[in-house]
Amino acid sequence: DTARSALDRLTAVVPDFPSPGILFRDLTPVFSDAVAFRAVVDALAEPFAGTFDAVAGVEARGFLLAAAVAYATGTGVVTVRKAGKLPRAVHRESYDLEYGQAALEIHQSDLPAGTRVLVLDDVLATGGTLAAACALLERAEATVVGCAVVLELGALGGRQLLAGRTVRALDIV
Ligand code: 5GP
Repeated sequence: DTARSALDRLTAVVPDFPSPGILFRDLTPVFSDAVAFRAVVDALAEPFAGTFDAVAGVEARGFLLAAAVAYATGTGVVTVRKAGKLPRAVHRESYDLEYGQAALEIHQSDLPAGTRVLVLDDVLATGGTLAAACALLERAEATVVGCAVVLELGALGGRQLLAGRTVRALDIV
């Protein structure tokens, strides 16, 4: 399909970034290609059509995808941010990364209770980021309908942390 072949063609594979031993998949060439970006955005939204009222994007690359999917589907967009960026009362979750530790936050009151949310990020690695994002949304009383990513790093087993959730990846490497 269009999205998969664009990913094969355009994803840049970068050894030893951001630290030695990490093989980083850089999707910025996919985002900067007009045809590829549209194909990716449409493919992320399509399996979830009609099931969500808002899209949550994880800082920072998830923002690009979430805003585009929200605009394309006539839904709202929510930012799941790195700690310390949001000005009002937040929920916070700490989690382990493939490399290091981090915390994510959302505003406690961006969404009416029961809002159906699709959670987006660029890459699923160990799953800690998306698991934390889903937990935050649920603490804010949203209903997480699923997670979608452009690329899943299958060997890292990230789906284990997302057990019981609907998780779609456009490509698995
Ligand atoms: P996880 O929490 O699943 O281990 O890591 C996923 C998060 O780290 C995502 O927010 C993603 O943007 C980033 N990440 C981890 N590995 C990669 C990678 O190889 N390429 C890109 N683009 N992002 C990555």
